[in-house]
Amino acid sequence: MTKGMDKSEAAFHRACRVLVGGVNSPVRAFRAVGGTPPVIARAAGAHVTDLDDNTYIDYVGSYGPAILGHAHETVVTAITKTVRHGTGFGAPTELETLLAEAIVAAVESIEKIRFVSSGTEAVMSAVRLVRAATGRDKIVKCIGGYHGHSDALLVSAGSGAATLGVPSSPGVPAGATADTVLVPYNNLAAARAAFRKHPGRIAGVLIEPVAGNMGVVPPAEGYLAGLRKLCDTNGALLIFDEVMTGFRVAYGGAQALYGVAPHVTVLGKIIGGGMPVGAFGASADIMAHLAPEGPVYQAGTLSGSPAAMAAGLATLQLLQQGGVYEELERRSADLADGLAKAAGAAGLGGKVCLNRVGSMLACFFAPGPVTDYADAAGADAKAFAAYFHKMLAGGVYLPPSPYEAMFVSAAHGDGDITRTVEASAEAFAAAAEAL
Ligand code: PLP
Repeated sequence: MTKGMDKSEAAFHRACRVLVGGVNSPVRAFRAVGGTPPVIARAAGAHVTDLDDNTYIDYVGSYGPAILGHAHETVVTAITKTVRHGTGFGAPTELETLLAEAIVAAVESIEKIRFVSSGTEAVMSAVRLVRAATGRDKIVKCIGGYHGHSDALLVSAGSGAATLGVPSSPGVPAGATADTVLVPYNNLAAARAAFRKHPGRIAGVLIEPVAGNMGVVPPAEGYLAGLRKLCDTNGALLIFDEVMTGFRVAYGGAQALYGVAPHVTVLGKIIGGGMPVGAFGASADIMAHLAPEGPVYQAGTLSGSPAAMAAGLATLQLLQQGGVYEELERRSADLADGLAKAAGAAGLGGKVCLNRVGSMLACFFAPGPVTDYADAAGADAKAFAAYFHKMLAGGVYLPPSPYEAMFVSAAHGDGDITRTVEASAEAFAAAAEAL
């Protein structure tokens, strides 16, 4: 990192004149950590390079899709070969069926699937389906859980008002969130209480099986199974939002890792191989409510986009090759161990909590354990910002917010892990000063 940031800064300021905050998705603007972001020119494998020719070891991974690393040759070839024959037809293609078959084979609880163009769209549509299938309106959602930016689910957390189901963004009418019931993550008693409070009115429980939008928070032992039982007992449907965890924490997703099947699964990110995609799937019975088989309307001009289907299919085929998840686990464990040791060496023993599930990691500047949003929100933001900027200066690109997960990819080599841990020595020292 010796080349400065002049070109990135100029490009970002230019962007700010025509793009809101210079970005097309807020977290990219570095508001949580300060400063301006490197503007990325290209990427390969585990590395991204900015306009000034600084190359970083990347743990953003496009916020999850890049599990094979960036611009994997096989995936790029699949995309380019496909788009040469057209980018979309508004008509069925075989590629959609091939990717659907691969997902149905991988995710046990899915018999039929519908592809859409983003995770937001997929969750929004899954919620509509669940409401229609149960004839009920209320959806239970976790505080600090992110399920895209559709109105009904944009009740986030961090304030007392959030727990009352008050919209967390202007522009979301109170009516849109009136049927969203909030409970703390990892708290089965709170979920039970929600069912007691709204008897016969809860359509479903929507949850990230591993919370990945409050840093990374694994489910407590028995929590997911308890939610499934609660739904079954009360005639509600359990929805796993596996947009982030699907094909990430295991090939079959978090439901395979923890051995708990939801009624409905939402996917995105990895299944598009880096192209825009989302999907939701369930048993054939539940999916039969969806148009054209049933009355629940859902449609999309670019749904099942051939380039996304081809990229997703190539990615899933590569992920099935032996050893990918074992290697991801080994490297991610090495990284977490290395970071924990470096934090200890910087005098932060007992002041940093590293949470990890497979290749999803988060470093909280809090004593821990971090088991829900309240714990995550209690972590020190100033220390995180200091740590983040030193890592960036040391050539390591972390997600620019303590609420985002770090992603390790199959392209990260042992050398990348070692260099990351080395860079973290100074970064933890800077965080220690900021604490
Ligand atoms: N659900 C989860 C768990 C996510 O992490 C995200 C995005 O990060 C979404 C839904 C929304 O997906 P998208 O950004 O593709 O709309």
